[in-house]
Amino acid sequence: RAKEAGRNSYRFFNQAMSEQMKGRMTIENSLHRALERKEFELHYQPRVNLSTLQVAGFEALIRWNHPQLGRIAPLEFIPIAEERGFIAEIGKWVLDEACCQAQRIIDATGKPIRISVNLSARQLAGEQLLDDVRNALDRSGLRADLLELELTETALVNDIDASTRIFQALKGLGVSLAVDDFGTGYSGLAYLGQFPIDVLKLDRSFVNQKNRDKTGNKRVIEAFIEMAHRLGIPVVAEGVETADTLAFLIACRCDEAQGYYFAPPLPAQEVAGFLERFSGDAPAIEPNTCITP
Ligand code: C2E
Ligand code: MG
Ligand code: MG
Ligand code: MG
Repeated sequence: RAKEAGRNSYRFFNQAMSEQMKGRMTIENSLHRALERKEFELHYQPRVNLSTLQVAGFEALIRWNHPQLGRIAPLEFIPIAEERGFIAEIGKWVLDEACCQAQRIIDATGKPIRISVNLSARQLAGEQLLDDVRNALDRSGLRADLLELELTETALVNDIDASTRIFQALKGLGVSLAVDDFGTGYSGLAYLGQFPIDVLKLDRSFVNQKNRDKTGNKRVIEAFIEMAHRLGIPVVAEGVETADTLAFLIACRCDEAQGYYFAPPLPAQEVAGFLERFSGDAPAIEPNTCITP
């Protein structure tokens, strides 16, 4: 019997594996046509200023609507796009699309809403990035200071000299630079002083309830925010899902927050409606859930 079960699980394993490989092969084979077939789409997640409770900006997040596989999340295809050398083209499309959409929102609302775009480490290493950013700004008419580029710590410290050079060049264009997923990887605070960083984004695993409950972690988050402020860098918390987390962040003087508590990433056509509905109304926070640090 045991033997039989073993054989079955072996067969099952094989099948699951080949399904997975088929999935990956389909992704690889169709990825290079996805752009021309207009299968990519950007969703926009609002970022809320915690002093004014106004929408401060949106983060553009890519989605791939695959004709057979359905919607594919970025973490499933961005690494493959990087490996296969498609990321530069995709990244260029994201920059163009995000800047145009941001300018449309600004035209419609009359508010200087910021747009954040994620960059992959590969884009930072490539030659094309500066031109792509410049072109996206020109084509959309978006004010450079309203475009923010997000990079992970690992991408930054990968090659500090190269990153410093490209950072300086990007700053020369007038765009803002954010460190994404802060608190997960390296967190070597020393590099913060070396780069002209405009925004620090605390990773969601770092700010969520489970992690905060671990002894000492609350203090670490508080200390991170305090330190960033001493360096003159505002802090954005990602992945805020509950009123508790929000209250904690407000008590820590975190500057901005984004997460399902406010809204998930929204399709472009829902952005205007969201702005209208949100319009600075305070989300329901029970005063007694506020935690004083
Ligand atoms: P990220 O830049 O850290 O984006 C935040 C991720 O957290 C997004 O996942 C977002 O949907 C998700 N999220 C937002 N609020 C909450 C929340 O309250 N709870 C939870 N559990 N999750 C939340 P998404 O859209 O799947 O993107 C994953 C990652 O893929 C991004 O992480 C970013 O690193 C990458 N990515 C997305 N779009 C692009 C792009 O256009 N270019 C590049 N190079 N990378 C991208
Ligand atoms: Mg991001
Ligand atoms: Mg992040
Ligand atoms: Mg992340």
